[in-house]
Amino acid sequence: MVFGFGKSRAVEPSSEEIEIESILFQGASNGNPVDLKAHGRLTQAGLIPAKELISDALARRADMIRIDPKGRAAAVTLYVDGVPFPGTRMSSPQALAVTQMLKLLAGLSVKERQRPQSGGIHTEYKQTPYLLLIDTMPMKGGGGERLVVRARNLDQQLETPDELGFTEELRLRIREITSHREKVVLVSGPPNSGVTTLSFGVIRSIDAYLYAIFSLADFGERSITHISQQQIVEGETYDKQLARCVRSEADVIIVDPLLADDRLKMTFEYANRVCLVSEYKARDAAHCIEQLREKLGPQQVAERLGMVLSQKLIRVLCDECKQAYRPHPKLLQKVGLPPETKVLYRPPQPTAEGDMEHCHQCGSIGYYGRTGLIEAIEVSEKIKELILSGAEPRQIKSAARKEGMQSFQSDGLRLVAEGKTSLEELQRAFKA
Ligand SMILES: [Zn+2]
Repeated sequence: MVFGFGKSRAVEPSSEEIEIESILFQGASNGNPVDLKAHGRLTQAGLIPAKELISDALARRADMIRIDPKGRAAAVTLYVDGVPFPGTRMSSPQALAVTQMLKLLAGLSVKERQRPQSGGIHTEYKQTPYLLLIDTMPMKGGGGERLVVRARNLDQQLETPDELGFTEELRLRIREITSHREKVVLVSGPPNSGVTTLSFGVIRSIDAYLYAIFSLADFGERSITHISQQQIVEGETYDKQLARCVRSEADVIIVDPLLADDRLKMTFEYANRVCLVSEYKARDAAHCIEQLREKLGPQQVAERLGMVLSQKLIRVLCDECKQAYRPHPKLLQKVGLPPETKVLYRPPQPTAEGDMEHCHQCGSIGYYGRTGLIEAIEVSEKIKELILSGAEPRQIKSAARKEGMQSFQSDGLRLVAEGKTSLEELQRAFKA
């Protein structure tokens, strides 16, 4: 069902008022019917404010919106490239109407307010399809519900290794490791650090024309070309699924994130006849190795783990308004940039009178879009020794750096030197 109430407004706007381009809600992603007529009062109170909130957020390039009820008012926060900015304040009845309205549009239960709910709404804004992921969470002590909306631009293809910040050297290493029908390659990171996007980059680094890549993973709405998506036969165990792919001569198998221990063990058992690519939840690459060692034993990890990658997202300076400056030699020395560096970039600074030039592209934030800093630990002979001897994550990390493997720090400084981001942004990302 498509229901776009493009122009309807309770009060006609005056001719001077500029109408913001409005979003079209196109149905719940869970397929539940959305009956606006049956919820006439809610629709009257909530539909227009909900449309205005989401349209305004998307116009400002927000990827996440949060409404926190706080007594008589509610705090609205917009996240642009992962950084919070305060949105318009709402009264608590308004916040309640918007929250309930978005639940209704996502095909969720409007009556249920005590338990968390999750759903999605298909939408279109300025001819671009967006999936809005809706999550609600009851506040402690009966203080209403918190609402989180994540907007995913379904047209945006941040999937090629180049856009993701993969260096040519890293791509070559991934290609080399995944070409021998053995080893596990893992992508690890905390939630919301872009782990799935990073694993897309890994998969795209593999030469799909030379090697047979099979996928047992669920990629949701995303798709990857040149990969043979395997149908999961009902009742077939994970063991049998892997065996089936191996029989069909897979070189690389992509599997869903390794959450359960038995799947983790099985994946490593298969890593002597096929290469497996997956995700694993850990703070970073070195901590991932430590956790694997505890679960699988040092021998298995040293022998069968090929590489762990991890990612931190950082903001990219806006090309329209970034400012060049000549860095002080002491600063270069302190952060570890080459002394011959002539110019670095930063967001625009206010003039002596405190004025800021307005930038149409980034709204004067100074940053536009994000990229990933990538850290990669390859299990070399030296790292193998460290794994077997029970070394700590920081020792593994420093050995990897000494061997010239890409670290968050080295990758971040590369981006600063290239003028893609600022030292301030690196500092912020490392503190977070
Ligand atoms: Zn700008």
